[in-house]
Amino acid sequence: MSEQTYDTYLVDGVKFPFCKGCGHTHSVRYLDKALTILQRDPSGINLVSDIGCIGLVDALFSDIHTVHTTHGRSTAFGAGIELADSILHDSDLKTIVILGDGGATIGLLHIVHAALLNVDVTVLVCNNYLYGMTGGQHSAFTPYEMVTTTTPGGNIVPPLDICKLVESCEGGFIARALATDKNLSEIIAQAIDYPGFALVEIMEICPEYGIKHGGIDGKKLKETIHKQEKPLGVLVNRKDREEFSYLYKNSIDIEAYNSLIKKSSRIINKEFTSSLKKEIGVVVAGTAGERVQLSSYLLLNAAISSGLHATQKNDNPVTQGSGFSISEVILSPEEIHYTGIEEPGYVIITSADGLREITANGLLSRCTDETILFVDTSLDIENVKGQCLKLPFRKSFGADRAAVGALGVCVKLSGIIPHDAYENEIKQRYKNDAENIIEKIFELIKHKNFM
Ligand code: SF4
Ligand SMILES: [Mg+2]
Repeated sequence: MSEQTYDTYLVDGVKFPFCKGCGHTHSVRYLDKALTILQRDPSGINLVSDIGCIGLVDALFSDIHTVHTTHGRSTAFGAGIELADSILHDSDLKTIVILGDGGATIGLLHIVHAALLNVDVTVLVCNNYLYGMTGGQHSAFTPYEMVTTTTPGGNIVPPLDICKLVESCEGGFIARALATDKNLSEIIAQAIDYPGFALVEIMEICPEYGIKHGGIDGKKLKETIHKQEKPLGVLVNRKDREEFSYLYKNSIDIEAYNSLIKKSSRIINKEFTSSLKKEIGVVVAGTAGERVQLSSYLLLNAAISSGLHATQKNDNPVTQGSGFSISEVILSPEEIHYTGIEEPGYVIITSADGLREITANGLLSRCTDETILFVDTSLDIENVKGQCLKLPFRKSFGADRAAVGALGVCVKLSGIIPHDAYENEIKQRYKNDAENIIEKIFELIKHKNFM
């Protein structure tokens, strides 16, 4: 932990985006206060948010890790990140999941599972009894008789008691508090500090829909909680369960595990030496089903075998075999802390699908004068900064090898990694066909034509 002290983890001059009087503002302020109680280094805090008004929380914090996820899945993401960190890295990261009652309704089983596992995540459920962002619809948490936009005659279904549910899953730390409770920050701090699964249900009001449709203002909220006989404060603080990653690390048969790892994965040793001095981003854009991501994976492996750090981020539409396929690979002599590419060093475009996508997502407009583009001759590309090399990748290698060939040309001409390292990957992947691919890479380079 650094010696620096933190008065706040919020961005300078923070402006809360929530409607006037929204409980989310209180919850976020108390979360920040809880973090200042704990005084953790920001790099040791990971905030995972969900969809919904509370999902706007990411931009309010500075320096801590934030991950914005899909609706209801934040607890699954948080649990996965936490397990990966504690089992593979052990950096003592503290993961906090923050979601609304809508997200908790959609992703209830993720919360149940994380509690059963006793993963070291803290789940803050900001419960205002409805889906605020999508128009005030009722959720599984809406109390009996409450009027929402989807229960105009009053809710007739019993509300879920998340605290009781999580208690039945043997969740380690469970608390409930009003968003306006002065001790909320201490409760959240206790939850974050708890070594295992912790959940805090934060009772809020949504002025926009909760008050307007349901008449649930601050006074009515307290009455409703009272009527439901829901206690406030710390409800459960168990000391009798071990946290999952501790159990996992201490219970698995390491030898059996290692032999499984050996069988199912490849350990890449450093066999080559790269002279790369600074981080560089390579983007490969083509058509799904044409081995774009696989080819980029060969580059990734080749970079690792050259002693570099490397990351790969893929994107394709829901369908796996049609539309675009994009792969972003970062290579660096230093550790990589962010996997996005702001200004691409090299851009490989093998098809119209890929060109369309990186035009639409703005990547092409982020090319600089230093960017080098390797573009299939079938494509028209203009008004893009950088140097453009057009070659017949599709014609020479075929559609499903255009990316592997284009990357080979890029590696050879740029020298970002030793070409031998990339050839080695081609040989491992393509066996008898490898020499053919490598020969074609060299042939193409002879005929290169810079625009
Ligand atoms: S709609 Fe409701 S929950 Fe969303 S910001 Fe406004 S008051 Fe808050
Ligand atoms: Mg809600």
